[in-house]
Amino acid sequence: MGVSITVASGKGGVGKTTISSNLGVALAQLGKDVMILDADIEMANLELHLGLEGMETTLQDVLAGEADIKSAIYEGPGGVKVIPAGISLEGLRKADPDVLEQVLKTLLKNSEILIIDAPAGLGRSVVTALAAGQELLLVVNPEISSMSDALKTKIVAKKLGSHVLGVVLNRASREGTDLTASDIEIMLEAKILAVVPEDPEIRRSTAMGQPIVIRAPNSPAAVAIKKLAADLIGAKYVAAVPSEEGLMKRLMGGLFGGKR
Ligand code: ADP
Ligand code: MG
Repeated sequence: MGVSITVASGKGGVGKTTISSNLGVALAQLGKDVMILDADIEMANLELHLGLEGMETTLQDVLAGEADIKSAIYEGPGGVKVIPAGISLEGLRKADPDVLEQVLKTLLKNSEILIIDAPAGLGRSVVTALAAGQELLLVVNPEISSMSDALKTKIVAKKLGSHVLGVVLNRASREGTDLTASDIEIMLEAKILAVVPEDPEIRRSTAMGQPIVIRAPNSPAAVAIKKLAADLIGAKYVAAVPSEEGLMKRLMGGLFGGKR
């Protein structure tokens, strides 16, 4: 039986899916058997982050009792296993959220690391996702509105018996309006495990359906996530060797002053 990590935030749009997908891929690149489950069946988007949209069988079909969980597992970038939530409205109508609990138990038995990308809010599917995670990884942005939602999520997760692994501070910029890492640690009474900067490369990666840890492995955001992955399993972070194509681009950029 493996370890399950629920990635949650309370607030929407802070970067849960970005962190879940990239952390999953980074752990798979370190040789771990990793499965990422999109537990957000209402606003599914893990599949978009990982370039796996349009898969025939999804979690929705499993929750509707129309498919076996095994047929909803796909291989994603870096060898990570992915269970997309599916974006059809028809599937959503038929899905029974109670089945999710059973599905999560089965998955946990069959993976070394199970990452659960939780929905926003504190609805029933969030509570199920929090209860299933032995570990909670909170994702926050450096703004006050992100704190109260994260704090509520933490309290609920603890009541459900999960252990708080720590916090990923995502979209950190150097703006004076940002809360500092130490402010956040005090407010949430939890340790910041990684600071992922605001990085336009992440938005580009999301739009292209390619995780940044693969598309731009030496970008500051990718490095922060890869270091987090290494820390979580007690491995050493090793920088990616730039591909020949990447080196050429940089060289040409340097010679002709073009953009990378
Ligand atoms: P959530 O799953 O919490 O709703 P997402 O991971 O889908 O949030 O992220 C929401 C949007 O923010 C996406 O378009 C993503 O590309 C962008 N984003 C996330 N993290 C960063 C970052 N560190 N820098 C820039 N854009 C980011
Ligand atoms: Mg999401």
